Parts: sequence; structure tokens; C-alpha cells
Amino acid sequence: PVFNFAAGPGMMPRDVLRQAREELLEWQRSGMSVMEMPFSGEVFQAIQQQAQQDLRELLGVPADYRILFLQGGASAQFALLPMNLLPAGATTDYADTGHWSRKAIAEASRYVRINVAASGAARDYRQIPTQADWQLTPGAGYCHITSNETADGLAYHWLPETGEVPLVADMTSDFLSRPLAVERFGVIYAGAQKNIGPAGLTIVIIRDDLLRPARPETPSAFSYRVQAESNGRFNTPLTYAVYIAGLVFQWLKRQGGLSVMAECNRRKSAKLYEAIDGSDFYLCRSCALDRSRMNVCFHLADDALTGEFLRQASEQGLLHLKGHPAVGGVRASLYNAMPEAGVDALIAFLHAFAARHA
Ligand code: PLP
Repeated sequence: PVFNFAAGPGMMPRDVLRQAREELLEWQRSGMSVMEMPFSGEVFQAIQQQAQQDLRELLGVPADYRILFLQGGASAQFALLPMNLLPAGATTDYADTGHWSRKAIAEASRYVRINVAASGAARDYRQIPTQADWQLTPGAGYCHITSNETADGLAYHWLPETGEVPLVADMTSDFLSRPLAVERFGVIYAGAQKNIGPAGLTIVIIRDDLLRPARPETPSAFSYRVQAESNGRFNTPLTYAVYIAGLVFQWLKRQGGLSVMAECNRRKSAKLYEAIDGSDFYLCRSCALDRSRMNVCFHLADDALTGEFLRQASEQGLLHLKGHPAVGGVRASLYNAMPEAGVDALIAFLHAFAARHA
């Protein structure tokens, strides 16, 4: 078997892909493929509604939050968030915890003033700043965090306290990997390509009172309010991607929901970190308390062996283990669909490679 450790698009549940293949030509005696269905027709509307309902159930999304299925990926949200929430010149708080927070900050700084409320820079991005290190701006428009730093291998295992200021999170790489207190957030957004479905689909979960009119220059198709008011049908939605996401939500329900996924993800990542920490051959530099359970990032003590490590891993069907170019080293992404057998195979390879090259 082959195991895909890519950071994104990541591995999809095999059952979902099989079901999609089965239904590709004809969906449930409808006479057509979901790809061909008019988005305003009853059949597709039912598919979309079911997907929303299943997601609401999985995450426990309260009634005063809307779920939007948008297009454009998480990078588009870096700009759309300030454009939808705040007037020009408004001040926001951002936590800088790694590569993707810096991307979010750089893009948002074209639209709002940014106060870096907490930064991992001083500790070389090995740690999420603790609450005591935060300098929040009273009256900020929102406070933005990146709940899982895909490139750096860090994650929040707690939530910052922001008082009246709405907490906003980019959850692209850990969405649906664990239960979530949605009511602690004003907005949650996530690109689909890790734990949800096909790239391009972007989920935004937003509290009703934040559905303000977007800045006038915002394209209507990217206005949260316009999309909420038209139930995502202002323009043609990503119909096929929404259908696949719906299959993933049903798969997650069949697995037992997000608590079961969280335990599974904890177990998978813990055994991999244990193998890394237990060997002088490999190094994981991130603080144990803040380690990501989705993206396990580490280095070989002798960096010169990394190329050979990746080549041999690939030969054994352990694919796409190369670290993010900005960080280097090795990264094993363990999204929901990665079976425990994949992690076991990787651990066996770590031991064998170290023994061969020690
Ligand atoms: N945010 C995080 C945490 C990510 O991991 C990524 C992509 O890997 C993005 C944002 C960017 O997503 P997209 O490529 O969908 O714009």
C-alpha cells in the first residue's frame, strides 16, 4: 500500500472515494451525475442542505451561526475577512505563530491595521505564546489565530481569551480533527483540502451579528452577507466539491464523530513523536505542549541525509514527506484519513533508516 503524507491536498478516506466512484455516473437513480445537476434544482439543494446539517451536527454549530460553502481557498479569506468585517483603517489583533499566520498578516495588512498581539518569533516559532505573553488591543475589530501551523507543526491546545473582541481562526489544517467550542469564535474558516474535500471549497462559519455589509469594493460573490442571504446560491457553488465534503461528513459520523477522531489523531501523532524523541537520529524542535497532531515536523540530526531519507521513504510507498520549503526537514501530515497502519509503517521506516545510517 501507498501512504500519502502530503500537507495538502491530503489523503482522503478510501470509503469516500469508492462511494464517489460508484455514484459518479448516476447519483441515486436521479438519472445524472452530481456534477451535472443544476445547483438550484431540488436534488442538489437537498445534497447541500444535508451537508450543512451534518457539519452542524458534527461540530455542534449553534443556531446563531451560519455555515457558508465558498470558493477561493483560505488565502482568499486572508483578504475577505477584513473586507467583510471591518472598515478601512480599523485595527485588528493577529497572533504570529508561524508561516501561515505571517501569510494571513501580510495579506490582511493591505486592508486593516494590524497589531501583532502575540509572536512566536522570539522563540524561533517552536512554541505558541502563552496567554500571559499576549498584548490585546482594546476595541480591536477581531483577534486572528491560526489554530494549526501546517508548515511549522504547531497547534493551539487551548484558546486565547479575547473578551468582547471576536476570536477568528484559520482552521484550514485542523478543521474536523477534534471537537470544537464553536461558540468561542466569531468566525472560523478553512480551506477544504486537508480534512474536508477537494481544494477550492472553503468553509466559513460565522456568527450572525458579524454578517455585516461588506466594504463596497468587495465582489458580491465574496460577501459573507450576500452568500448567507442567498443560502450560497448567489453564484454557482462548487457543487461537486460540496457533495464530496458531504460524503466526508457522513464518513466522520460513521467513525463516531469528532471525539473519536481526536483520540485517533492523538494516538497516531503521539506514537510518531515518541519514535522521533526516542532517537538521536531525529529531532523535533517544537515545544511538546504545542505540537501539532496533524503535521508532524522534524529534522534529521544530520541534515545532509534528508534527501536520501525522502528518496528511500518514497520507494517504500511513504510519499510526500518533504518539509515545507520555508522550514525544510521532514513533515508527516496525519489527517483524519491517514490510517494508523500508515503511521506504523513510517515509524518502522524511521527505525530502519536510522539503523542503516547510524
Ligand atoms: N492556512 C493554512 C493553515 C494552510 O495550511 C494553508 C495551505 O496549506 C492555507 C491557509 C492556504 O490555503 P489555500 O491554498 O487554500 O489558499
